[in-house]
Amino acid sequence: MRVLLVEDHPALREMIGDHLSQKGFAMDTVALGDEALAALRAIAYDAVILDLGLPDQDGMSVLAALRATPSNCPPVLIVTARDAVDDRVRGLDAGADEYIVKPFDLVELEARLRAVLRRPGARDRNSYGYGDLTFDRISRTASVCGAPLDLPRREATLLEELLRAAGKVVVKDVLEDRLYGFDEPVTSNAIEAAVSRLRRRIKAAGAQVRIETRRGIGYRLVAGSQ
Ligand code: CA
Repeated sequence: MRVLLVEDHPALREMIGDHLSQKGFAMDTVALGDEALAALRAIAYDAVILDLGLPDQDGMSVLAALRATPSNCPPVLIVTARDAVDDRVRGLDAGADEYIVKPFDLVELEARLRAVLRRPGARDRNSYGYGDLTFDRISRTASVCGAPLDLPRREATLLEELLRAAGKVVVKDVLEDRLYGFDEPVTSNAIEAAVSRLRRRIKAAGAQVRIETRRGIGYRLVAGSQ
């Protein structure tokens, strides 16, 4: 899942971004409200973590602009030092899904993020399946016939994207976009390498699903063992 973090405090931005990246979210991080709105126009995020005190505009105006565009409606978690009841009510009234007061624990932020993504109306279904392979988007765990399949972060995201497409071809550019945040360098063979690692793991787990290469285009899941 791809998450936009809007936070102007560099150390906090890095800490939250690193923590959630390690937990398997593709993180894009920005420091300004204008940058957030530009990113939101370009990319369909699964969730937004939004600081209210930003240098160029108040986070509330970012939220208002976002909510004024019904076609782009990711859940929004406000993180702020403003803890007055009035501020909380204003934030929730303006369409925030969660309101978290600083200082907070990273584990709590992560739990609230997952809770928001689990709610009905979250943009997509919470699990994907194809053949005997299943991926739970909330716990970010894969399984083969119900048996857990341990996957490193990027391979888990790769499998999620292939399962999301339900047997249709996923183009390589889309995979690069999903597996890497926009400030992460992507080498030309990174996706091929991730696909071959994922293939080995799926095969070792005995899944009756394999990854087919469409040369020059992308990849898709098909029935049958490797
Ligand atoms: Ca701030």
